[in-house]
This record gives sequence, C-alpha cells and structure tokens, in this order.
Amino acid sequence: MKIMLRVASAAEKYVMQLERDCFYPGCGCKAIKSHSQQRRGALSAIAKKGKVVTMSRDTVSTLKRSNKYEYPRARFFEQDIAKASVFKGFCNRHDTQLFSAIETRPLCKDDPDQVLALYRRAVSYEYIREEEGLINLRCQAMALGIEGEDFQLLASCARQKEMLLDSDDIYYVDPMWADDYVNELQWVWRVLPGNVNVSMTSMMPPITEEEVFKETDPFWDWDNKVMACARPATSFTVIPGERESHAIMIWTKFNDKYMNDYKSRLLSSDDSVVKGLLNEVVFVKSEDYCVNPNLWRELSNSEKGLLSHAIIKDNFRGPLDRMPNVIV
Ligand SMILES: [Zn+2]
Repeated sequence: MKIMLRVASAAEKYVMQLERDCFYPGCGCKAIKSHSQQRRGALSAIAKKGKVVTMSRDTVSTLKRSNKYEYPRARFFEQDIAKASVFKGFCNRHDTQLFSAIETRPLCKDDPDQVLALYRRAVSYEYIREEEGLINLRCQAMALGIEGEDFQLLASCARQKEMLLDSDDIYYVDPMWADDYVNELQWVWRVLPGNVNVSMTSMMPPITEEEVFKETDPFWDWDNKVMACARPATSFTVIPGERESHAIMIWTKFNDKYMNDYKSRLLSSDDSVVKGLLNEVVFVKSEDYCVNPNLWRELSNSEKGLLSHAIIKDNFRGPLDRMPNVIV
C-alpha cells in the first residue's frame, strides 16, 4: 500500500504540472487555466468569502482513507473560487473566442450561441479530465514496472480508457468544432426561481451504468482500438444566480433515443421532480460540482456521508439506498 501511495502521489504531481497545448484543433499555443464553471457567474453566486465547497482531486488522501472503508471515499473541502473548477483547456485566444457568448452577456434561455458554447465547454472539460486520468494511470503503471502486482490491472484500465477517449474524438470532439454544429444538438433549458446554491458542468450517461454496458458491450472493437458506436452521453450544466438558476441539458441527435427519462423529468411541471433530477445528476452522476459553504454546513453528517458514497460509480458501490437531497 505504501508503494502505491508514493506512486499515486508522484503521478498526480506530474499530471498537475504538465504543460498542455490548446485543445482547439491545429492550435499549438500553450493552454491557460480556464474555469469549467464561470468564476464571475456561477461560482460568485454561491461563494462565501470567496470560497466554495468542492471535491478534492487528491487521490492520495482518498487512497489513504480507503484503508478505513471498503471503498475510496471522496473528500470535500473549501476552495478559493480562483482555483475551483480550473482546467488547462485552451490558449487565451481560443478561450476568449469560443466562450464569449457565455462570458460576455447574461444567459438567455435557448440562445443557440450560448448552447453551443456550453456544450463545447462541457465536452472539452470532461475529455481533458479523462485524458489526465489516462496519463496518471500510465505513469503509475510505468513506475510499478511490469513485475508489479498491480501492473496488469492498471495497464488494462489504461487500454480501456484510451479506447474510450479515441472513440470520443470521433463521435464527440472532432465534429463539435463545425461552425453550424448547434444544428446537431438538442436541448432542454429550464430556468428555476431562486438560487439553487450548487454549480456544475459535466458529461454523463443519461441511463444507468448497466444500461450503458448493455448498449455498448457489443461494440468494443479491440482489434481496431476504437468503439464502433458512441458511448451514450449528455452534457448537463447547472448555473446558479441570485434571482434565478439555469439547468441546461444538451445532447447530440444520435443520443436522443436515450433521453426520454431525463427530458420528461427536466420538463416536468412538478418542481419536486425537477429537483429530484438535479440532485441525481449533480451529486450522483457528476464528480464536478461546487456548493455554497453555508448550504454545506447545514447538511447532516449522514447526508455528507451519502454524498461521499454517491460520487463513486454505481458498478463499484452498488445501488444507493436513497438519493441525495441537497437541492430542495
Ligand atoms: Zn488555441
């Protein structure tokens, strides 16, 4: 376990200090640090004294904690909003160009330019996070060496992740740079009264892990190292504001067949159904959310324990006894 911790810690440091090129195709400039959740918008709306509560990315402390529990548990802490939701995505020029529709004017329900910007940001953020995860896995596998007892496991996780990312390139990333790509997108943009005090942007399967497995299992093509179908996914963004909050779900036309359940819940006239969906997508499906520290402090210990548990993929932890109930 000690060697594993040292290796994980070294790999994490390596990934964190890595210089990245701009994610925009053909641009060789260095990526700057961008926010996946806007600092001056969503994060300011929920910050207290410039801080929000977010999940730690520190896998070392997670591994340490996993000695005490049967499974790794997420750790949450107060983070300065200058550092929350930061990723190395785009150079200064592309960051400004691609996201000006959401950075320079207020959100306007169903605005196609804002829809495209939100979708591209969610896809880029998720992809870059997963790519960092892959680099991390490769570092660990290399450090443990081929003789290491966990080498096979790490190497097979890395191969699987690599194939998923290569497939995402084909089905999600490469096509989304087309100027008229908004024509390939469908969305539900719901404006909710009041501040939901939670912010999130993520890509997620709109069906259960088990259903994803059933859908995609026949399409793993190990010979060609690419999936013969896109993995089911939708983007989901929750943007809190002082007077109203926005919940925006955007997906490609080829994912529409998976969207019936999420669509009907987000469009429901019953507020409790909409909030039930938000609690599920933010706290169970996404790993990238920020919470108002005051709201966090008011949560019971059992609710916080549930959030730590819920963030783990359901094929590892099994079904939850109940859903988190933070957005009420
Ligand atoms: Zn660039």
